[in-house]
Amino acid sequence: MHLDDNVDRDEIAKFEKLASRWWDPNSEFKPLHDINPLRAGWIDQHADVKGKNVLDVGCGGGLLCEAMAHRGATVTGIDMGEAPLAVARLHQLESGVEVDYRQSTAEAMAAEQQGTFEVVTCLEMLEHVPDPSTVIQACADLCQPGGDLFFSTINRNPKSFLFAIVGAEYILNLLPRGTHEYDKLIKPSELARWIREAGLDMQEMMGMTYNPLTKRYRLTPGDVSVNYLIRAKKP
Ligand code: SAH
Repeated sequence: MHLDDNVDRDEIAKFEKLASRWWDPNSEFKPLHDINPLRAGWIDQHADVKGKNVLDVGCGGGLLCEAMAHRGATVTGIDMGEAPLAVARLHQLESGVEVDYRQSTAEAMAAEQQGTFEVVTCLEMLEHVPDPSTVIQACADLCQPGGDLFFSTINRNPKSFLFAIVGAEYILNLLPRGTHEYDKLIKPSELARWIREAGLDMQEMMGMTYNPLTKRYRLTPGDVSVNYLIRAKKP
């Protein structure tokens, strides 16, 4: 397999088209802005990123990269979209943090930099690739023994279809229609299996729920029915 094969060009094109609005908290990226402090806090709480070498896979416009850099991490962000990376590079000039942004897949990077990073994150990206399991394997290869890995995605069940697709894309108009395809959503059991198959130890699953009345997200340990995060360790 070629190292860039596991890329869905139509998916990349969706993000290229929206990229100029990435840092507008009232744009299509509002949900990512809303969840960013929650997930960054959770990651930092468990991985203590200050002074660590962090890789963010599928970084987009750099929301998580900057949050990690603000907490004192040395951050590399990779993405296959050119426009999101261009926006990310411009935005860091404005915010004064330094992130190393590169156009690459996790698979290509893993072929060159095995075991380089103390923390590897891959958030809201796996549901946009043809084969998530090879991305997870690449993340595992890129991580140092003893390092921490964080993944997040959307569950696949009738409730998540209703909330994450019908609700978010068709009723509340939080996301453009077609952002998420039902068949590509990932059950926690599937993600957990790929994590185990990549030789990683599962640590914790954490839900993220949206309350449409208060318009707020929160971390919900007992509810992974729609959005969720998984934390793993490399032995
Ligand atoms: N992780 C970021 C952005 C999520 S949007 C965040 O949560 O804030 C998904 C991103 O994944 C997009 O920027 C898209 O370009 C990128 N992407 C999709 N497939 C990819 C692949 N195979 N390799 C690298 N990046 C990819």
